[in-house]
Amino acid sequence: MRIIRHRSILSLNFLLLFLAFTGSAGAVVLKPHFCHAVTSSNHLPGPNGYRCDGTPRGYEKQWLWLRHELTPDERARTDWSLTIRQTRFRQLSVIFHYVDGRTNIHTVRAGDFGDHWALNAHLAFPAPSRDVELDSVTIGFQDLAAYDLLRVRLLPEPIRAREAGIVALLAGCALSLLFASLIYNLFLFGVAKQRSALWHSLWVACMIGWGAFWSQLALAVVPAAAGIASVRICAMLAAFAEAAATMLLLSSIEPGMLPRWGRISLRALAAAVVAAAALAIMPPAGTPSLLANILTIVVLALVIGVIMATGVAWRRGSRFARDFALAWSLPIAAVLYSIISDIVVTDTRIFSGELLVLLVGAFQTVWLSVRATFTLAAMRVERDRERSQRARFEQLAETDDLTGVYNRRGFLVRARQELARTDGKQRTVGLILADVDHFKRINDTHGHDVGDLVLRRIADALRALSGDVVVGRLGGEEFGLVVAGGLALDIFVEQVRETISAIDMTDIAATLPGVTASFGYVRASDHPDASFEPLLRAADQALYRAKALGRNRGVEGHPADVQRGEEEPRIGHDRRTHRSSPLSFRQ
Ligand code: GH3
Ligand code: MG
Ligand code: MG
Repeated sequence: MRIIRHRSILSLNFLLLFLAFTGSAGAVVLKPHFCHAVTSSNHLPGPNGYRCDGTPRGYEKQWLWLRHELTPDERARTDWSLTIRQTRFRQLSVIFHYVDGRTNIHTVRAGDFGDHWALNAHLAFPAPSRDVELDSVTIGFQDLAAYDLLRVRLLPEPIRAREAGIVALLAGCALSLLFASLIYNLFLFGVAKQRSALWHSLWVACMIGWGAFWSQLALAVVPAAAGIASVRICAMLAAFAEAAATMLLLSSIEPGMLPRWGRISLRALAAAVVAAAALAIMPPAGTPSLLANILTIVVLALVIGVIMATGVAWRRGSRFARDFALAWSLPIAAVLYSIISDIVVTDTRIFSGELLVLLVGAFQTVWLSVRATFTLAAMRVERDRERSQRARFEQLAETDDLTGVYNRRGFLVRARQELARTDGKQRTVGLILADVDHFKRINDTHGHDVGDLVLRRIADALRALSGDVVVGRLGGEEFGLVVAGGLALDIFVEQVRETISAIDMTDIAATLPGVTASFGYVRASDHPDASFEPLLRAADQALYRAKALGRNRGVEGHPADVQRGEEEPRIGHDRRTHRSSPLSFRQ
């Protein structure tokens, strides 16, 4: 697993490197060749109004004109298309000049790119193919945000279409993966109630939103978001994604891997990032740059905090921190590659840094989802083992060692449950107490071991009774039974009495006399208002009467007959059991 992991990360890095530097053959990068002019109105400057050296200044609140005259080689083609990667402006005009003096003008505004928006945050302007050569191109920006970030290319239309196809395919793959991962994580949250899956979903949702706005796919639905609005939404979603990723880290990292203050400060920083991003998207008049600066600072602080926390947890042995760091190494690599390729390859690249980030973001979410699934599966196995162990312990704690039936504790719990169930259900439930007659004699005559075997034999016989019967040994030679069902309780008690007296014990000791038992029982359904203790006490008193009446019989008890002065149960007091009383009510 680890080898696969490292290899896959490594090969993805190579793929990124390849993508980052891939350029389209035949594309002409125009920026270095532009002559430029800045005017206060939208009147096209005359041919002498342009400067062809240096970079333009002071254009941010004016009109910036960029002019490129086609070289003889470029004039040989008639299928040029102009692409612009910069959408932060108020208005943009693209003018194609043909050698016969005719022009072709396209104008778009922020919030309305018409059919010029293209994937990969591009605007595309095909030059209409005419039978005369294209002479020059002029681009006019009103209130352009940043000339440095502008990328303008002239490329043959078939190449542009192919590029757009590749980008659409990759962006589509990335968005589909993200979408699948979103559904999966929501499902994980719904099924396993894992809070980390919710943060993961939120993060993926932000990535999807960001991808949709950055690629301009969202413009198909909300065309008015074109331009600055899109850029702001992207910045906000990126900040939200960062906060969600931080919460994902905090909710997934194993306990004890991060100090408390570290967790608290990361959470506070994430909240600050969300607040700053929300404010920055709708800045109150006059403070936009201040808010943008604050956002940049808190975002940076959070990034540093997350990196530190991941490092600390990784060093302490957190598996999640390691996976998290590996997963994030790719987007960081993507950003680095795109910055380097910006410097090295300038503007012929097809793949913008953002597309790379989207691609590795998709890989990253799939990766973390797979990890989360493995962790969840491991947790489930562990939990099941714990459960079955606990069940085993509980069973042992409620079982009588000697006979294998419920011990006193187990029996009283079951009996209480059964009797509580009679309420409203009109079920006949009988509570029966049985005490072996003259058991002490067996012990005295044949020894304790034989006594034990006799008790076992009786328990086996009780367990073999048919019907819905709960059997327990209350202590010493005393047993309890709870019977459910519509049978006649006195007949049932008689059956049990006969069963016990019919047990053949001669194989235990040849001279062993027949064993009998006495019974006290109550019909719970006859006393719907009585709680468990009075029923038990009534059965106990009835058992005492059965003994007094000569043993080897059953006597029915009634809670109403239990004398006030005889609250204390007799069993375990007036008979010399060496166990604690089965009917001690301090349960
Ligand atoms: P009664 O008919 O009045 O119930 O007489 P009894 O002799 O059965 O009752 P008593 O309470 O006087 O004696 C119960 C005896 O059960 C005393 C004790 O030694 C014996 N006993 C209690 N627990 C065990 C056990 O686990 N194994 C064996 N072999 N004997 C036990
Ligand atoms: Mg007895
Ligand atoms: Mg007894």
